[in-house]
Amino acid sequence: MTVDDRRSDDAPPDEEAVEAAIEEAGENGFNAYVVAREAIEAQFREEQRMAEEADMSLRAPLHEIFTSIQGEALFAGMQQIFIRFCGCDLGCPWCDTLDARVEPPAEVWCQARPGVRGFTIPNPAAVEDVLGVVKRILKHDREHAIHSISLTGGEPLMHPEYVSALAATLRPLELPIMLETNGQRPDDLQKVLGMIDWVAADYKLDSSMGRPMDDAARREFLRLAQYKRVFVKIVLTDQATEEELEEVYAQIAAVDPACPVFLQPVTATAGARPPGGLELIRFRAIAMKRLRDVRVMPQIHKVLGLK
Ligand code: SF4
Repeated sequence: MTVDDRRSDDAPPDEEAVEAAIEEAGENGFNAYVVAREAIEAQFREEQRMAEEADMSLRAPLHEIFTSIQGEALFAGMQQIFIRFCGCDLGCPWCDTLDARVEPPAEVWCQARPGVRGFTIPNPAAVEDVLGVVKRILKHDREHAIHSISLTGGEPLMHPEYVSALAATLRPLELPIMLETNGQRPDDLQKVLGMIDWVAADYKLDSSMGRPMDDAARREFLRLAQYKRVFVKIVLTDQATEEELEEVYAQIAAVDPACPVFLQPVTATAGARPPGGLELIRFRAIAMKRLRDVRVMPQIHKVLGLK
């Protein structure tokens, strides 16, 4: 390269030429902004269609609907609306939603404002009734403090058609919709993925579950979840080992090394105890060999005395 060549490379770009090039590219359909805008508009139209066509009469067994502070993972500290489903296909020894895993109650307990007496709707709950409760909660939220909606459980993906219809109906409210799931049902995730914004996926450890988990299912789950925004939560008991965590970290890194991962020491129950503080530091340190965003975080709603 000669000195003159370098000068011409370093010269500032001709702005008019750049503008003309963008315009010409746009006319030819290659302008990235045009393409992105068209994709967003198409997505919006599709969401509107899904919301209009959603079967409002579908029903599923719910446990409760209320608003509180999210106590786990990426949205910890944010106020959310929680729609809690009944039933779960796992059976974690530390489960803190045992009420949601027994027979569904005859009525769903709902609370429009924290600290205010609740009311009920019939169970199994119709999509239409749930929408009504969510709107009632939002009506009381004059400060717009509510950040997002959490579809939680139990395991919401045991009712994929209902979750899809409900999420489609909730979308016009313009709050992000997060699915909290045990991360073991990739086929069902596929059915709802188009209607949700965030996936909060658990990665259950064999040691803490006391049995081997379906490795292929959780890998596929995480791969599919990449089509939306996703983060992973790993509940740690005093049974967790470095070896199994190394394996789990490698599986997550193979999908996305930048995926946020939350190491959550179990809140002590009769069936499980958390690791010690030094172990938690070590478990995070070995994660950082492969992953970029790993945080140790307990359940803060328990500290705050909230649901
Ligand atoms: S996946 Fe969640 S709801 Fe199901 S048993 Fe485990 S902790 Fe409980």
